[in-house]
Amino acid sequence: MKLFLVNGFFICKDNRNMEKYVVEIETGLSAVKKALGVCRRVQEDPAHAQAFQKADRSPVTLADLAAQAVITATLLNTFPTDRVVGEEDAGLLRREAKICRAVLSVAVKEWPGLTEKTLSDLIDYGRRSFDTRGRFWTVDPIDGTKGFLSRRGYAVALALIDKGTVEVGILGCPGLGRRPAAGDNAGCILLAVRGAGARVLGVDGGDAERIRRSASVSPGKARLCESVEPSHAAHEIHAAIQRRLGSHVPPVRMDSQAKYGALALDIADIYLRIPRKRDYVEKIWDHAAGTRIIKEAGGRVTDIAGGTLDFSRGETLNQNQGVVATVGGIHDRVLSAVKGVVLEC
Ligand code: AMP
Ligand code: MG
Repeated sequence: MKLFLVNGFFICKDNRNMEKYVVEIETGLSAVKKALGVCRRVQEDPAHAQAFQKADRSPVTLADLAAQAVITATLLNTFPTDRVVGEEDAGLLRREAKICRAVLSVAVKEWPGLTEKTLSDLIDYGRRSFDTRGRFWTVDPIDGTKGFLSRRGYAVALALIDKGTVEVGILGCPGLGRRPAAGDNAGCILLAVRGAGARVLGVDGGDAERIRRSASVSPGKARLCESVEPSHAAHEIHAAIQRRLGSHVPPVRMDSQAKYGALALDIADIYLRIPRKRDYVEKIWDHAAGTRIIKEAGGRVTDIAGGTLDFSRGETLNQNQGVVATVGGIHDRVLSAVKGVVLEC
């Protein structure tokens, strides 16, 4: 067994893709750890507690902006020609010098040498348009900014996509423990590589452990996981789907792609995201890393019609509606319950 040490983690090189993507894994883990450092610093300092409103009225914090810059700097330092699709842009920083300085003061702690100009350029690097049918990274520096602000939970999400397929997915989840059943919520990093399985790592190092949900789940006992925000997913439709499956277990509500982590770590069995508005298109950075983690942990992910999520169409999943993720061999049962309930609505 060949072990390699990556950022203080021991990872087993037991698969062709693990070997192929060693540098990507190393760089991606380093980027996510730095972004988690940014987030921790901002949460710990009351002077950084401001939130600003984006054009779509969603919140953005100093941490979202600093983390996207630090992740992009880390990726480009190793892969200077790689492309990046990120959630944030630097419009606010270019308009407001004071905010730019505040973001810079946080970002330089993780990536020394940044200037106001390079900071904004790095953030906007993730907003350039290019052909997303090739290789690129997608970044959500803080997935679940509302959860970050209210200190419920959030994730740092990073994925490497090639030809529409997620090859590597990394989720930094400060609120999820490696062993949730034992009451551990000390935080973890989830890593999955296509065909090479899913692993859980502590946020501060240690050995990477394989995670796999191989046991069958009974639909009547399935635990549902859904967004905390009722505007992000139709809770009442989820409840009707769960009833149709015969399950009455109260839903687990969580922010961010930590929901995919919850399935991989045996906290829940089904993640439903039935759109509240029929015309809502999901963003690739909200699902890329999580979908690879579920698949490598032995689960399945589709849209609500059973279609494969297509990550090659730019920044949105515009060929898909909603998301259904499951473990335990119940995907087809859940899809038929979704179909039954959604057709009735
Ligand atoms: P969650 O933490 O699962 O509620 O998801 C957070 C993500 O929801 C954010 O990153 C947004 O991209 C996304 N989002 C924002 N508005 C909506 C909406 N109306 N429907 C679904 N997702 C949304
Ligand atoms: Mg975000």
